[in-house]
Amino acid sequence: MSKKILIFSSGTESSVQAEKTLREKLDKEGFKIVKEIDDDVELIVCIGGDGTFLQAVHKFDFPKVPFLGINTGHLGFFQEIMPKEIEGFIINYSKGKYRLQHMQAVHGTVTRGKKEESFTGLNEILVKSNANSTIHLDISIGGGFIEKFSGDGILISTPAGSTAYNYSLGGSIVDPRLSLLQITPIAPMNTIAYRSFTSSILLPPDLSLGVVPDQDWQKGGIKIAFDGFSKEYDSIDKIEIKLSDKIVDLVRFETYDFWDKVKSKFL
Ligand code: NAP
Ligand code: MN
Repeated sequence: MSKKILIFSSGTESSVQAEKTLREKLDKEGFKIVKEIDDDVELIVCIGGDGTFLQAVHKFDFPKVPFLGINTGHLGFFQEIMPKEIEGFIINYSKGKYRLQHMQAVHGTVTRGKKEESFTGLNEILVKSNANSTIHLDISIGGGFIEKFSGDGILISTPAGSTAYNYSLGGSIVDPRLSLLQITPIAPMNTIAYRSFTSSILLPPDLSLGVVPDQDWQKGGIKIAFDGFSKEYDSIDKIEIKLSDKIVDLVRFETYDFWDKVKSKFL
């Protein structure tokens, strides 16, 4: 072990306080603390809430180094410990008494003419209209056309993101030990004029989702969002979405259990 730890903090008052405590204790144990990533960094400690963790994941571009979250934020679903547990974390971490939870990301490629742009989301990728009008999307699975979606948009969530926006939209909570993508409709229309699936659908890891926005309905533009970041386009030819090769690892201690966490944060 290199004993080099990166600290990423939300900068709120409670995060600044937790960082101070953490620095003092890590220093005593002989760890070197840094702010930027390099090959010697063995752990990224993220102080804040889930939003802070997602920012760190994107800032360091889905690094191979594991993350440990200290929750000073609101929900902190990804975060493993509270500031008062810093001492215990250092002891258990130093003894190697932890395991890694693997979370697979989702990858999207947007094609416009000859141009291609890629996005990665740990929680999800969202496709929606940029205007207040409905969006119409030709959806294919594994290359075969399946439906013309009409409504506000679709959200493609990973198991890790299933408890975020996906859950608010009525999607299912998925144990991150499963490898799949969940496509959840946002306000799907069902009339004699338009017909779309009303429930989420689940895709196995080897199938990709194709999305072709109806050219006549792109006047207001299209928004692609991923983990709270977003990009707007005037028009898009097609979007391909599949599970990513990128995996984010979270340090979890003996007491961690996914379903205990769900219960404690949602019920
Ligand atoms: P935010 O607007 O502060 O996030 C909304 C809430 O989602 C926060 O309470 C956040 O936790 C929580 N959250 C994020 N990832 C989660 C996960 N995997 N499981 C359970 N809860 C999670 O924005 P943010 O903090 O930057 O997070 C970005 C995420 O917000 C997006 O990826 C999207 O999933 C979600 N979002 C949700 C809605 C909705 O539910 N209607 C709308 C837009 C975006 P913290 O309080 O700890 O930050
Ligand atoms: Mn947040």
